[in-house]
Amino acid sequence: MDHFDLKDGVLHAEDVPLPAIAEAVGTPVYVYSRATLVRHARVLREALAGLGDPLIAYAVKANPNAAVLATLAREGLGADVVSGGEYRRAVAAGVDPAKIVFSGVGKTADEMRLALEGGLFQFNLESLAEAELLSEVAFETGREAPVAFRVNPDVAAGTHAKITTGTADNKFGIPIGEAGEAYARIAALPGLKVQGVAVHIGSQLTSLDPLEAAFRKVGTLIDALRRAGHPIAVADLGGGLGVPYDPGHAPPPSPLAYGDMVRRVTSGWGAQLVFEPGRLIAGNAGVLLTRVIRVKPGVSHPFLVVDAAMNDLMRPALYDAWHRIEAVAPHGGRMTANVVGPVCETGDTFAMGREMDAAEAGDLVVFRTAGAYAAAMSSTYNSRPLTPEVMVNGADWAVVRPRIDIDRLIAADRLPAWLG
Ligand SMILES: *Cc1c(COP(=O)(O)O)cnc(C)c1O
Repeated sequence: MDHFDLKDGVLHAEDVPLPAIAEAVGTPVYVYSRATLVRHARVLREALAGLGDPLIAYAVKANPNAAVLATLAREGLGADVVSGGEYRRAVAAGVDPAKIVFSGVGKTADEMRLALEGGLFQFNLESLAEAELLSEVAFETGREAPVAFRVNPDVAAGTHAKITTGTADNKFGIPIGEAGEAYARIAALPGLKVQGVAVHIGSQLTSLDPLEAAFRKVGTLIDALRRAGHPIAVADLGGGLGVPYDPGHAPPPSPLAYGDMVRRVTSGWGAQLVFEPGRLIAGNAGVLLTRVIRVKPGVSHPFLVVDAAMNDLMRPALYDAWHRIEAVAPHGGRMTANVVGPVCETGDTFAMGREMDAAEAGDLVVFRTAGAYAAAMSSTYNSRPLTPEVMVNGADWAVVRPRIDIDRLIAADRLPAWLG
């Protein structure tokens, strides 16, 4: 559930009418609802009740804005980071380093040093070569590195190929069948404290079955590792739970159903559980607010050209993602339109043949469910300003990232002396 609702015929974020934000900040602009972020964090925590004191490490890559991270840090969430930059952002926003999990296949020595010196909950290792490097860095810095291996359970997640991470041919983790040998190797490395097992099979999962299959394999592995003498005390079950994008489709499993499944599968594990939700927390806590520039005739349907484009919201171009598109002040009429941005790419298409609220030049529309993997992926392609972000809190709102305008982009370039 989110806090974007029509009030007196105008779409609001909590108590703020979206046209007020469009007037003040301009469009396109991302608008986040603080109450929705908090609600999602609490719903998940309640759904995981009875599982001891699990660490909920928000996947920063979903939405790394400082205001989002600070909101979640105050709810007691930790962070799952995949780069030194994300580590620094999380700490700067007030996330307790003891609640930070460091994931990713390409951690560098510098990134390892940063996290070792600043502190963290655990490195999720993805290869033996990485384990060896971390051992050297830990030795150099005189710190012990708490580690888990991310295992690849080879289950099909049933989601889009570009967000599937747990099949044998994906780049992530070590094959679960080779885990016994890998743990034996790292147990002998100095500077590493072997404490856990981690798994993450993909994103926007709409069935619990692949998650359950993966978790069962992890349970079996934990048993085997303990029998081999490894002190496994942590099971990191990753993220991946889907969120509703299209109200016309069956909703993905609820956090409650997910919690029930986890309680059933992990009972008797005797391990601290870690969860890494990203989309579930942030997805429906944001919208992309945009204005229709013009309506251009098309062969089958008119093109609604909006001032947001693929550089602002990449998911449709990257993942064929479907976002609900709504008028901010709907007047009851409907239309079928192709919704496109101004960027010079055919891929800059948000929707083809979409049945939607009627809209014309000058009208405001929103892309819903744009709180995760949205602003985080924005770019300045076509020399477009970097999209600003706003957070709403009740009747209050604030710009939490100003628009990075063209002057700043031009000023960031340098002409070499021989062109000057
Ligand atoms: C992206 C990612 C997540 C978050 O996935 P969601 O689908 O947003 O919940 C969690 N863990 C890891 C390792 C990731 O790469």
